[in-house]
Parts: sequence; structure tokens; C-alpha cells
Amino acid sequence: MKSFIKIIALILYISVSPLLAFAEDDNFKNCGEARYLILSGMELYLIDHKDASVESFEKIISSDLVEGKYLSAPQTCPGGGVFSYTHKPAREDWFPRNVLISGGKRHLFDIKCSIHGGIEAFFVENEKKKFAMSPSEKADACLSNMKTIKGALELYYMDKRADASSIDDLLKNGFLKCSLTCYSNGAYELKKLDSGSGSALYDVICTVHGSIEKAK
Ligand SMILES: [Zn+2]
Ligand SMILES: [Zn+2]
Repeated sequence: MKSFIKIIALILYISVSPLLAFAEDDNFKNCGEARYLILSGMELYLIDHKDASVESFEKIISSDLVEGKYLSAPQTCPGGGVFSYTHKPAREDWFPRNVLISGGKRHLFDIKCSIHGGIEAFFVENEKKKFAMSPSEKADACLSNMKTIKGALELYYMDKRADASSIDDLLKNGFLKCSLTCYSNGAYELKKLDSGSGSALYDVICTVHGSIEKAK
């Protein structure tokens, strides 16, 4: 996949993942955001160094990310926790946020804090907050998810000169970084239109919020 397409895919992903405030525990929140930045820096690094071995990930974080400007500054836990890094092959049918793609393979990458736990715990807390949003905030978040899917359809077409067949197809090929959640418990579907290609070929539908075409 062309690098610029991957960068656009990553920016789309980051722009629709606003991190909400954890008023009750700032250290948990700031520690999670620090690790999220490390993860994003690793993704940028891997766009430029596709064949970096997973065994070298820890070394890359401690040296190359900041010097190579994949990260603006070193990140640490504000509560004094120590970060550690582990990796294992990612399951093919599961698309969490902390997957890194290297050498054509997907790896589940954890950045664990000795005080605040695995990065998964941070993402889970974040998701819980989003389920507590107001109905109109949930509708807005859903619409931006649908726009992300539209964007991924277009990027897929630009890269492969063929249309994606499903949302799973977008995920498996890395055009969608992770599964998207409708916080009103809707499910996303693609509805093929009569003509068009890329993002124009499909209407994106949420089973709760309806069609993106109608929402426009
Ligand atoms: Zn921490
Ligand atoms: Zn929805």
C-alpha cells in the first residue's frame, strides 16, 4: 500500500477517536494518552519501515521514535509507572486499536503501565464514557464513523483499483484501522448502489441511525 494512503488512513482514524476526559483520574487518562501517542508514533514509523521486526519494537520506541520525529517528545506515565511492551500475533478476525502491521503481518501490541495496566484497559474506559454521551453526540459520532468508512472505501479503490467487498475487507487490508462502534448499539452495513466506484459505490448504513446519504 502506498505510504501516503496509509498516512491518510491513520489521520482519518485519529480524527474520529477523540479521547474524552476522565475527570475522576487524571493520571489514568494522561498515562493512557501517553501510550496512545507511542502507539500512533509506532504506526507512523512502520509506514516508513515496513519490515521492522516485532522484536525490535521496544528499541524503536526508546530511540527512533523521538529522534526520527515520529513522536514530538518522549512519553511517560505521570504517576511514575513504568511502561513495558509485549507483542503476539493478532487474530485474523479481531480488529482492536492496538494492532500494528509489520512485514505484512498483524501484531497485537500491548503497552503496559506498571500502575495503570494494559492499554486495552484505557481503551475500554474510553469506550464506556462514549456510551454515556447524549443521543445527539452519539449520532454525531456515528456519522463520523460512517464518513470514515466512506473514506476507507475511497482509499481502497485508489490503492487497489478495485472496490472493497465489505467492511471486513477494509479491516483485513488495513484501510480501516480498527472496528468502529456506534454508541447507540447500531451495526454498520454497506449497501451497493447502482453505479460508481470507491466511496460512490456504496451507501453506508447504521441500523440505528440510518443512511449516510440521508444524513448528508
Ligand atoms: Zn501509568
Ligand atoms: Zn449509529
